[in-house]
Amino acid sequence: MIEILDPARLPRAREAGALVADILQTLRQRCRVGTNLLDIDRWAQSMIVEAGAQSCYVDYAPSFGRGPFGHYICTSVNDAVLHGLPHDYSLVDGDLLSLDLAVSVGGVVADSAISFVVGDATSSADAALIRATENALRAGIAVARPGARLGDISHAIGTVLSEAGYRINTQFGGHGVGSTMHQDPHVANSGRPGRGYTLRPGLLLALEPWVMADTAELVTDPDGWTLRSATGCRTAHSEHTIAITDDGAEILTLTKSA
Ligand code: MG
Ligand code: MG
Repeated sequence: MIEILDPARLPRAREAGALVADILQTLRQRCRVGTNLLDIDRWAQSMIVEAGAQSCYVDYAPSFGRGPFGHYICTSVNDAVLHGLPHDYSLVDGDLLSLDLAVSVGGVVADSAISFVVGDATSSADAALIRATENALRAGIAVARPGARLGDISHAIGTVLSEAGYRINTQFGGHGVGSTMHQDPHVANSGRPGRGYTLRPGLLLALEPWVMADTAELVTDPDGWTLRSATGCRTAHSEHTIAITDDGAEILTLTKSA
């Protein structure tokens, strides 16, 4: 079922989005060489609790993971790209870290992810990976408006990723958001324009392009959650939650300072 948000609940969606964005920004600023992934998880937990929000992850037990997740944020390092389970690992200079966070405020969920390199030096290959996901996300958002089709978004995202030279995995992608985190419709990161569900005001979507440098194949880590590139290559992931409005799309997961 596809959920359409009651306009009266849009302020809650904005609150959830701003909170997710602020937490991710704070965590990004705190992450440095030596930061442990479990510290990041604890910081996320305390900011979620302090805000009176609910974690979408801690009790989450979907079919694709060995649930419940038991942590508050996904921390995916280097070859890990999605659902990275926080564990006892201290970041080293040059690690490519993706943070993915979803919370619920007043019963409405927002979901966002950022990727960045820890330390002083970012290789041009890592910068290109991150930039491809950010550009693809921007392209997907740019075509999201009432009357557009889901395939238009998938096509816009997929075009940027493939023109940047990456192969696309369509097992995991964007999704509807609302009273729960993962809802219909699925938003593949590749697709044909003019196809699929027609977007309507009040639809909330999480768009999330992700790529792996030299493969489209994933392997599951022995932890039962973390998805890694099959070749061990580096990866990146960017995600925003958007609300379809009467005349376009509003990005909910932007920091107030952005
Ligand atoms: Mg996410
Ligand atoms: Mg998501």
